[in-house]
Amino acid sequence: MGMFDDVVVNAKAAANAFSKKAGNIFDISKLKFNASSIRGEINKKNQELGEMVFDSKTGKEVSDDVINAKIDEIKNLKNDLAAVNELLAAAKNLMICPVCSAVIAKDSMFCNKCGTKIEVQQEESNTASEETDNSQPVQEEEKAETVQEY
Ligand SMILES: [Zn+2]
Repeated sequence: MGMFDDVVVNAKAAANAFSKKAGNIFDISKLKFNASSIRGEINKKNQELGEMVFDSKTGKEVSDDVINAKIDEIKNLKNDLAAVNELLAAAKNLMICPVCSAVIAKDSMFCNKCGTKIEVQQEESNTASEETDNSQPVQEEEKAETVQEY
């Protein structure tokens, strides 16, 4: 019982932390789209910055303020990108409850909002059999095969 309680508490904490950051945008494809569009923005600004520097070094009048403003824009975009990447990383360990759409940890046994039992896809039976088979050396089998191939 104690172990189960811990799982629920951790899942809740993870989901809460995530919800706070993500607000209503728990959508991995949307996050990925955001990340790639921010990257595109950064590339564009970098190019603009490069042209400004080029102009300033080849006789054109470009004020430092304009260049610094561009650098700030790039800095902000990089911060945004880091935040989106952080959300993406967090989203990998979370899922949406199929019943109430609450954000919950991927390894939850039950939704901590509506209590629905979460079905674990695949894996469950695999991990059980793998644990018992641990003693079998896999590498030797591979060696034997390559010898036979000749
Ligand atoms: Zn639920």
